[in-house]
Amino acid sequence: MPTATLDERNTCKILSGGKWIESQATRFGEVTNSSTGEVIARVPFCTADEVGRAVQAAHEAFAEWSETPAVKRARVLFNYRENLQAAQDELAWLMSREHGKTFAESKASIQRGTEMVEFACGLPSLLMGESIENLAPHVDCETQRHPLGVCVGITPFNFPAMVPMWMYPIALACGNTFVLKPSEKVPLCVMRTIELLQDAGLPDGVMSVVHGDKECVDALLTHPLVRAISFVGSTPVAEYIYKTGTAHGKRVQAAGGAKNHIFIMPDAILDRSIDALVGSAFGCAGERCMAGPLALPVGEVADEVVRRLTDVAGKLKTGPTDRESDATMGPLITQEHKEHVVGCIEKGEAEGAKLTLDGRKVSVPEAPGGYYVGPTVFDHVTPEMTIGREEIFGPVLSVIRVKTLEEGIRLTQESEYGNGAVLYTQSGRAAREFKRRAGAGMIGINVGVPAPMAWFSFTGWSRSFFGDLHIQAKEGMLFYTQQKMTMTRWFKGADGALGTWGF
Ligand code: NAD
Repeated sequence: MPTATLDERNTCKILSGGKWIESQATRFGEVTNSSTGEVIARVPFCTADEVGRAVQAAHEAFAEWSETPAVKRARVLFNYRENLQAAQDELAWLMSREHGKTFAESKASIQRGTEMVEFACGLPSLLMGESIENLAPHVDCETQRHPLGVCVGITPFNFPAMVPMWMYPIALACGNTFVLKPSEKVPLCVMRTIELLQDAGLPDGVMSVVHGDKECVDALLTHPLVRAISFVGSTPVAEYIYKTGTAHGKRVQAAGGAKNHIFIMPDAILDRSIDALVGSAFGCAGERCMAGPLALPVGEVADEVVRRLTDVAGKLKTGPTDRESDATMGPLITQEHKEHVVGCIEKGEAEGAKLTLDGRKVSVPEAPGGYYVGPTVFDHVTPEMTIGREEIFGPVLSVIRVKTLEEGIRLTQESEYGNGAVLYTQSGRAAREFKRRAGAGMIGINVGVPAPMAWFSFTGWSRSFFGDLHIQAKEGMLFYTQQKMTMTRWFKGADGALGTWGF
């Protein structure tokens, strides 16, 4: 049945100038139910002309939205927050079906996204400038933060609604207009979240949605009216976006892939550490940039860690997430990605790692067409092996045994990526040393997934981030605004005479 965002053939519409309209695209992608493989919608690959019209509409809406008082803009976001809370279950089911997260995982990600909106509701306080009186005789100075204009978000498949929410609530609260290009693999849940934003009272044209692949992205990267681009996705594309966007004079913040290290010291509380490790590696089927795909037991604890990890991971239940079920881990995003993950497991075996749990053997008879790979654990992985080095983005945990924490810290510093690093220990001294020297921008001490909540920025390092100002929180506000300084002097009379007021 057609809806505001889907036509009668279940083809996604685009949002341009405040109206959901059918795209004129001639190329389309398929959106599937990851649990069954069934095609549930088509997504148009927008042409450059369509993208241009959406950007133009956003540009035109900027004049009024940027003049709307900050508190009024925030009020729309307060309404939006209420709408999101009320629609949590509906959104979570949409996401679980197209993406493959369990219902609990989808709901948690909607909650996290809603917290970004809550942060943005308070943005008027952050937008306050600075001032000083009498910096020179009779001279006062102040700064204000001004919105940029049309800002763009290009987002990955793995958090369909939450990653866009890292971006547009802050950009809009700052007075910008926004064009979102969500992942073509998961457009359904995010379109519904944008409908809820319209229902919250957002004026027409302030938010647009276009769909597509490289052609659509390139049109955004090079459009003269686009001022800033926020990107989250894989490292090669992040680098491309950064280089192309900056070459066209845009501000760019581009977050890329990851390969995070989780260390377990001999003094760690093992039960807790193993549960956290399993949650970190296999939550969302390993499709998280803050997942822990590398477990690094330090010293003599290694045999025990591998034994327990294999045991706990082996108890996870892989199954469909598009219905009520007892599955604790869902399918991967596409058949193609499943083949990639299986290929990585084959490479791990070929390169000499020891498989202690093989997810290829998992069977889901109730949904045979789904993209399932069960939890997989490799022991005796080395940092040189493909599975020890490259991002797999699936439920594959590699154990790299290290002799000392020093050796482990060096591995984090030498890694291509720099998103997260985690240490499980009871030693304050080890924790302090690790926190200071690990080569990653987000550190967990006895916390398996140190993904920052809305009030902190997402501070990836190395090839996990390209740009200067990170996504989310205060740095997000700085990214979406430009500063203006005003210097003011009020003269006394030319001869120094007192004015009418006596001063
Ligand atoms: P992806 O790079 O394939 O796609 C991301 C976006 O870029 C999509 O909207 C896609 O349409 C577009 N795109 C893809 N190829 C393009 C090209 N050649 N030119 C222009 N645009 C292109 O990423 P994905 O597979 O959707 O998501 C998974 C990746 O995202 C993983 O590498 C993961 O680590 C990363 N990720 C990073 C973070 C972070 O904060 N660092 C968070 C979430 C996901």
